[in-house]
Amino acid sequence: MDKSGFLEKVREGAELIKMHIELGHTIRIISHRDADGITAGAILAKAIAREGGNFHLSIVKQLSEDLIKELADEKQKIYVFSDLGSGSIKPIEKYLSDASVVISDHHPPEDGEIENDNHILVNPTQFGANSVRDLSGSGVAYFVAKEINEKNKDLSYLALVGAVGDMQEIDGQFHGMNLDIIEDAKELDLIEIRKEIRLYGRETRKLYQMLAYATNPDIPEITGDERKAIEFLRAKGFDPDMYYWQLREEEKKRFNDLIVIHLIKHGAGKEVIDRIIGDVVLIKPYKEGDPRHEAREFATLLNATGRLNAGTLGVAICLGDEGAFKEALKLVDEYKREQIEARKYLIQNWNSTVIEKENVYVFYAGKNIKDTLVGIAANIAISSKLANPEKPVIILADSEEDDSLIKGSARTTERALAKGYHLGEALRRVAETIGGEGGGHAIAAGIRFPKNKLEEFPELINRALEEQANGN
Ligand code: C5P
Ligand code: C5P
Ligand code: C5P
Ligand code: ZN
Repeated sequence: MDKSGFLEKVREGAELIKMHIELGHTIRIISHRDADGITAGAILAKAIAREGGNFHLSIVKQLSEDLIKELADEKQKIYVFSDLGSGSIKPIEKYLSDASVVISDHHPPEDGEIENDNHILVNPTQFGANSVRDLSGSGVAYFVAKEINEKNKDLSYLALVGAVGDMQEIDGQFHGMNLDIIEDAKELDLIEIRKEIRLYGRETRKLYQMLAYATNPDIPEITGDERKAIEFLRAKGFDPDMYYWQLREEEKKRFNDLIVIHLIKHGAGKEVIDRIIGDVVLIKPYKEGDPRHEAREFATLLNATGRLNAGTLGVAICLGDEGAFKEALKLVDEYKREQIEARKYLIQNWNSTVIEKENVYVFYAGKNIKDTLVGIAANIAISSKLANPEKPVIILADSEEDDSLIKGSARTTERALAKGYHLGEALRRVAETIGGEGGGHAIAAGIRFPKNKLEEFPELINRALEEQANGN
């Protein structure tokens, strides 16, 4: 990617923010409600506070036209959109024309030029970056913060938590400008990157729980069965009640080998094997056994706050608030339990419910899977082999806020993308024809549309994807 071109945009964005701080204006930040957006919001807020500026931060589920109108009514002098906004350039241009705007984001932008001189799009995809590998929303926020003041390099580890939340290292290693953030964080001795097992729960799950609740990937014959996990570990001489972080180096290595061999025996593909042992980010300011010590657990803590509309609690955790951390700990178990329930529901109902088309699976879960979990469910459908990994999966559920709406998440794999699919563009196009809102990355995207279009949806999305595969 053209790093210096991107950093030039970063400079423009940072200058605009600094100017408004100097003028004493409130910096109005709107960031996305997942771990990436929450860390991004925290990074920007901290950077502004350090300059003596005022900010007003909201963590939102999505950026709708209505929300942009509401924001316009606030009549702020400057708006900073973070980990979102690139899909809403037209309404931002329309309603916020009198204000300064910085869009600090990594989603592929919708077509349409920014015409206003006081509106700046800081987005690495415009400089050749891959939106799901090379930099996340928190990474963009980090570069803006670092440009505001070098001191903010101490926020680098938060940017890595956001990157992991967005699964930027899904293939087992970091790429692109994430590597520059890692360098900054190492320079300040804030992190250590280790090659370890990439199963959830290094800090807070006992080994048997780590295996029994693994969904990314599934551990054949063990996922979903605590008793089998315990037997498996005992048979190999491990204490099922220990935590991965407690293992000695040689025990960790033996445990890793054990899982790899088990997966190979059960026919796991090369991709699964390649990614199961890989980059794990350990955050040194926190102790072993603390979920904030490992980036994935930290990110999950933040995701657990975001989906309950408690995103600002997540921001407080990022800023070091111990009370907020304790509060959020209570939310994680429930969040993880719901993921396991969603997996069970999928497995039990897949065959009877899924609509399989030439280019896509569509699974409507009604109220059986929460609308905040459909993205995870779509990934689970792939990792548990319900779906052929070369065909995109879309899970739909009733919207929790508005029963007349459907929320959907689409997920797929690199292998499927090789056919020419771009899920974000496909969903955006379908949403336009059925009166909804859709968009996102090539590999992961979302949509919201009226429930009365449910029947039409599978064929519409199938055709949109087919056109992409045919190169139109
Ligand atoms: O909103 P945002 O860009 O921050 O989120 C990206 C989404 O894409 C996350 O839900 C992440 O888990 C998902 N993702 C995925 N597979 C990938 C990369 C990202 O499902 N390979
Ligand atoms: O896909 P998305 O970013 O929304 O996922 C949110 C969280 O759920 C992430 O922290 C991810 O690690 C977790 N997840 C999981 N199992 C999966 C998919 C996602 O634990 N199969
Ligand atoms: O909602 P979900 O987690 O499935 O979204 C996947 C990705 O698509 C996220 O990066 C999200 O920000 C993005 N998205 C978008 N525009 C939408 C819906 C989702 O850019 N209307
Ligand atoms: Zn993101």
